[in-house]
Amino acid sequence: MQPIDLLLTHGVIVTQNAERALIPNGAVAIAGDTIIDIGPAAELAARYAPAETLDVAGSAVFPGLVNVHTHLFQTGVKGLGEDMAVQEWAVAVTAPTAARITAEEAYLFAVNGCLEHIRCGATTLVEMSYAVPNFDVHHATIRAILDSGLRGRYSSIISDFDDYGLPPQLLKPIDAFLDETRRLQAQYPLDDRMGIWLAIGAPWVATDDAIRRTRAFATETGTFLTMHLNENEIDNELIQRRHGLDAIAYLEEIGFLGPDFLAIHCVVMTPAEIELLARRGVKVAYNPVSNMYLGSGIAPMVQMAQAGVTVGLGVDGAGSNNSLDMIETLKIGALLQKVGARNAAVIDAQMVLDWATLGGAEILGMRDKIGSLEVGKKADMFVLALNSPKIVPAHDPVATLIYSAGEENVMHTIAGGKILLKDRVIQHIDEADILQRSQQAALALADRSGANRKVSRHWRMER
Ligand SMILES: [Zn+2]
Repeated sequence: MQPIDLLLTHGVIVTQNAERALIPNGAVAIAGDTIIDIGPAAELAARYAPAETLDVAGSAVFPGLVNVHTHLFQTGVKGLGEDMAVQEWAVAVTAPTAARITAEEAYLFAVNGCLEHIRCGATTLVEMSYAVPNFDVHHATIRAILDSGLRGRYSSIISDFDDYGLPPQLLKPIDAFLDETRRLQAQYPLDDRMGIWLAIGAPWVATDDAIRRTRAFATETGTFLTMHLNENEIDNELIQRRHGLDAIAYLEEIGFLGPDFLAIHCVVMTPAEIELLARRGVKVAYNPVSNMYLGSGIAPMVQMAQAGVTVGLGVDGAGSNNSLDMIETLKIGALLQKVGARNAAVIDAQMVLDWATLGGAEILGMRDKIGSLEVGKKADMFVLALNSPKIVPAHDPVATLIYSAGEENVMHTIAGGKILLKDRVIQHIDEADILQRSQQAALALADRSGANRKVSRHWRMER
């Protein structure tokens, strides 16, 4: 009998392999951070002597979900932006917060957000930070992701131009941003757990020079790029005014589009633009809850996927969502496409799960390491209990996950072979302490920044 670290056994294994095979009464054997065997429970029981066993009878085991777009600091402004138009929200809530947030606050909000990922079975995230009044705030957010046990990619928004009303403290010369990126990359070299990406807020928050130099830096260093793009009509309006082209046509003209670029949102799209993104290998993040929350519209994700664009699923920031619930995002992501097409058959549960696992893995350039449960891949997975009134009866575990499940049905979450959530208890962080401190920090920061001035005094929480 071969000694191993962990065995999950007696569950339905949803492998997400090339055949999308399900293994009923299956098991997954884990040594270190890697899946070393997967198959029928009886066979693995005869082969391995695990240090720890999780009996997951009556449950389904899925690959860890990949959230390809978020802003963790916005966990601290959750609940301050409802029912405001984007520009009003940015000026009243995000800007004053971004100017005043401390490293300690950024850490607490980020851990708070990472804990929610773990409780939703998400094991990987792509962070796009922009509230960084000093360099320590970068470290605080990165440390929070690492402490949480998740895999992450960290980026921080480059912005050197404004004709929209951005807070001036978010703007810096491009040299300063690229210098910060170099420092961060030296300190956090790319590995399976962490890596530093480049981010531009949107095509209209940076000068032509800054956008071209960011692209050149990415190409020279092999760094991935991300940017909000065509979330609504403003991208085309502002880029037409400056360059006489629509936003995507402008990015094409300067040679920005490529397979290392993750475009966020892409709600306002023509068929020709979809075809162009596919041809250039651009990846796209679908953030259905945020698109609905901000009234942005319905991104043509099915059309993009059919054109050959790699699609991943994102929650966006808690400021334009009010939670970071990946399980909720699965269902809403499917339903919104059906509404947009006025056709229930336009998307199925398998397609959404593919976006949330394999699509995300492809976007991170980690298709050989995450996104499915296969021998040799990282041991990132979660266990969904099929025993609550919300779920029973389950006929198909994939459809059950997408359309019936809630965060409360996620029993265990494992990332890199480490159990982060066990029987719905966070294993490695004092969750109650973090949440209590995050709550207090959010109230204090809102008072200090005035970001809560729209919240009626009558309803305000006491510090
Ligand atoms: Zn965003």
